[in-house]
Amino acid sequence: MALVTHVNVCNTMNEIYCCLRNKIVKLDAEQREVFCKECKMFAGEATGFRRGISCVWEDLRTVSNPHIALDPAEEFKQNQVRQVPPEGPALFLYSTGW
Ligand code: SF4
Repeated sequence: MALVTHVNVCNTMNEIYCCLRNKIVKLDAEQREVFCKECKMFAGEATGFRRGISCVWEDLRTVSNPHIALDPAEEFKQNQVRQVPPEGPALFLYSTGW
């Protein structure tokens, strides 16, 4: 699995999908200070976009690198699919979230 740079561009409500918290979050001062500041996935601002943040993590999906994430709701939805190890049953598990 390759490390993918996710360029998370804020939607009109200043929201992005946060991999660390596995939820849609407001990219506000609290998110940046409490979560992004110490996050190992933090990779800087969303270069080339007015508002957003870049995060690097291993993506189970087949996506481009960098992956431009314009829709946090779609990102959240797609990232709830978990792969089962090859030795496990041929099933996909769906997280129920919090
Ligand atoms: S840097 Fe970490 S905490 Fe901040 S949005 Fe990305 S994954 Fe979430």
